Amino acid sequence: MAVIEFLQKNDGERQKILLKSPATLEPLYEIECETAEDVNAKIAKARAAQPAWGALSIEQRAQYFLKLRDVILDRQDYIVETVIRETGKPMQDALTFEVYAVCSFISYWVQQARKTLKPETSRPPGIMGLMKKVHLIYKPLGVVGVIAPWNGPFVLTANPCIQAMIAGNTVVAKGSEITPFCSKILEELCLEAGFPEGVCNVLMGDGMTGAALTSGAVDKIAFTGSVTTGKKVAMACVENLTPYSLELGGKDAMIICADANLDEAAHAAVWGGCVNSGHFCCGIERIYVEAPVYDVFVEKVTTLAKAIRQGASHGVNEDLGAIFWDKQLDIIEAHVEDAKKKGAKVLAGGERNKELKGLYYPATVMVDLDETCDLMTQETFGPVLPIIKVKDIEEGIAKANDSNYGLHGSVWTKDKNKGLEIAKRIQTGSMAVNDIGMMYGVPSAPFGGVKESGVGSINGANGLRAYSQAMPIIIGRYAGADTGYPHDQKKLDRMKKLMNFMWKNPIGKKLLGP
Ligand code: NAD
Repeated sequence: MAVIEFLQKNDGERQKILLKSPATLEPLYEIECETAEDVNAKIAKARAAQPAWGALSIEQRAQYFLKLRDVILDRQDYIVETVIRETGKPMQDALTFEVYAVCSFISYWVQQARKTLKPETSRPPGIMGLMKKVHLIYKPLGVVGVIAPWNGPFVLTANPCIQAMIAGNTVVAKGSEITPFCSKILEELCLEAGFPEGVCNVLMGDGMTGAALTSGAVDKIAFTGSVTTGKKVAMACVENLTPYSLELGGKDAMIICADANLDEAAHAAVWGGCVNSGHFCCGIERIYVEAPVYDVFVEKVTTLAKAIRQGASHGVNEDLGAIFWDKQLDIIEAHVEDAKKKGAKVLAGGERNKELKGLYYPATVMVDLDETCDLMTQETFGPVLPIIKVKDIEEGIAKANDSNYGLHGSVWTKDKNKGLEIAKRIQTGSMAVNDIGMMYGVPSAPFGGVKESGVGSINGANGLRAYSQAMPIIIGRYAGADTGYPHDQKKLDRMKKLMNFMWKNPIGKKLLGP
């Protein structure tokens, strides 16, 4: 029942992996994992292509991306088919999360790059402003390595690559071995859009290929994946002092206040917990409900969860697709079984959907949980909604914060100001009030985790700038004579006078500083 099988290999051969469909468990194809030599060759190819690509103006690069967006729109069926074949997602999830999201990111990055990466000239503050100018350029880093997971395989490969490339870098990306072609097609689509050879390179392979990339001669690693692998990536990067960003897992909490619109909150809970088969870094993993509305909320969520349609035809009339990977199914089953053993009650779902041949798990609602169980503390990454009653919001906030993770979460209340105040107190990279975790899909908002959920952030103006080196170039007026040798009493006195004038004299303060 494994969807990937590592095939026997002889010495000197590349590791082969047989992939199977998670929806049917029928074999799909074999891939060969690229070796460290292959990885280094791709890095060298990217390195050779970078100077010409980096020398283009932002506008010239922007035009390539607008062409890429056309190609993606023209080839959307092909992208959706590739994603569905390797993941078993419903068509709606594939279209929205992978195609729409990537087009939206391109549109934003094109506009943002024109503003954010433009060179700036300014005068330094105070007296130095009379003597110097600062010319600030955003210089490409060089070659950026991108490592992506299997849950949003096209978008999570494409988004960091697009940011890196529009900033003038070339990229070597590696998608997950569970979904290799979902990532590989980015290279294909870029070539179709006329990108020069070597600008966008996508590797096929497993963790060994990824490890070769992180210890290769790259200028940054942008990693999205699990905490465990993230730590390995960080260690490898530290070894070479390669800058890195880590977008890792989460255990997002949803806090339901007694004054929430319960219909909306219940719908959001089921959608936010089950969308993309629950394989959603900002998906709902824990729900804390204020006591007065707990029973009604649980009833509404259970009714909605039972109405979720699960099927293997990936059509528009199905809600919940396959679990993408058997190992994730094992984790989901283990968390639910552990919770059951510790006394939890299952109100919907609760065991694998055996009516379907592939890897299917239904929308699951659980209550009466022992809060030390794995389902409440570890990332489940499946369509499971554990609901906990809290006596008041303070208890809800404390429980939401009692986690090693800190990615995202949401608060539900009709009082938006109260929602904002609660959101500010949650120890996560981002939060939502009366909305579900589409944070990653909002390109203008910085996205990243705190605690074990990540290091650095992607998206927003700073996310884009993180793919470049902000390089100030000072342009002097007096050839440094203002500060230079010889040291003498006259200069010392002049400096004292100047300081008094600037920061004690009312006219000086007005002219040169507060
Ligand atoms: P994973 O860590 O197992 O794998 C991620 C990628 O790392 C894959 O391409 C894998 O081949 C590669 N890899 C494995 N070992 C490696 C090594 N030693 N060196 C370098 N690369 C290596 O994660 P996954 O199971 O593919 O993804 C699921 C996880 O990703 C979940 O925890 C989820 O929450 C997280 N995620 C986070 C975000 C975010 O933006 N914060 C988004 C999506 C998914």
